[in-house]
Amino acid sequence: MQAIRRTHCPIIVHAAHHSQASDITDINMDCRQPCPPHDSYRPPDCGSAGGRFTTHASVTPLWFDLGMTEWASLRDACESAEPVPMLLAAIEAAGTDVDDLWVDLWGRLCHQCTVYSASYAALPALAEMSRRHPPSGYVAALHLAAAILASNAGSGEAASVRQRYAREIADLRAIAARNLQYAVDDAAFVYGLQALMAFEDGGVWQRHLDCLASGELELDCPSCGEHLLLRLDEPEVTLESYADGSLAPSAVTPIQPVTATVEGHPLALARANIRPAVADRLSYLFGGSNCPRCHVWIEFKQSLA
Ligand SMILES: [Zn+2]
Repeated sequence: MQAIRRTHCPIIVHAAHHSQASDITDINMDCRQPCPPHDSYRPPDCGSAGGRFTTHASVTPLWFDLGMTEWASLRDACESAEPVPMLLAAIEAAGTDVDDLWVDLWGRLCHQCTVYSASYAALPALAEMSRRHPPSGYVAALHLAAAILASNAGSGEAASVRQRYAREIADLRAIAARNLQYAVDDAAFVYGLQALMAFEDGGVWQRHLDCLASGELELDCPSCGEHLLLRLDEPEVTLESYADGSLAPSAVTPIQPVTATVEGHPLALARANIRPAVADRLSYLFGGSNCPRCHVWIEFKQSLA
């Protein structure tokens, strides 16, 4: 399985595929957060409705009614969400999944995993964009919607959002499941699988499954607090201390969950889509190991909760 170390951004990963990049490991090496792609990114034109998309949007007929939402009363990463509909319109006019406009929108609506009132208000538009998109292994609108729903940081509305947007989420779930077969490689499949888990409210994995693409997962021992690194990009999966090289790495015990569980479903999908490397690493990620320092058993799922 191709490792994409320290790159968690579906937009960046897709852009790399799009540009036939020969060494994707050079991209976004400083990204250490599980949510893309903007650790150092600040949305442009904060507080302004201007910028590069204004002219575009003013002449673009839209399939969604911008007047239905009082965007100026909503918040995004730039405080006022007033420019969001124009940004959506510009994206619609551009008709691409790889565009700085998407980076701008992502930065406003899901900046470092944080969501805002405008993030949820954008879900119907993102769902419609996904419905209208041809089948593909990467659909920017779908991945952004997934990141918004998966976020557990922000407005505190998450509990009611899934009920409020149940129809949109059901459609997004069906599209995400259909699109798994179009993933161009294992990394794209993993991102697609994580998006699907967001629409299924798949516990911690809707936020952490992408560690299979980056090849590693950081976690803390719930017993002694040691900062640990799960190495998924080596032939033998191990759990090691992040900073203390004197501690011997621990072997990881894989599990084979039954299909009718949160873990069993993605594992079954990986096998059904003939992704044996993904399925193999999933079984380790869903397993556990002993802490290299205190030797207490750690189930990775619980340490991420
Ligand atoms: Zn420990």
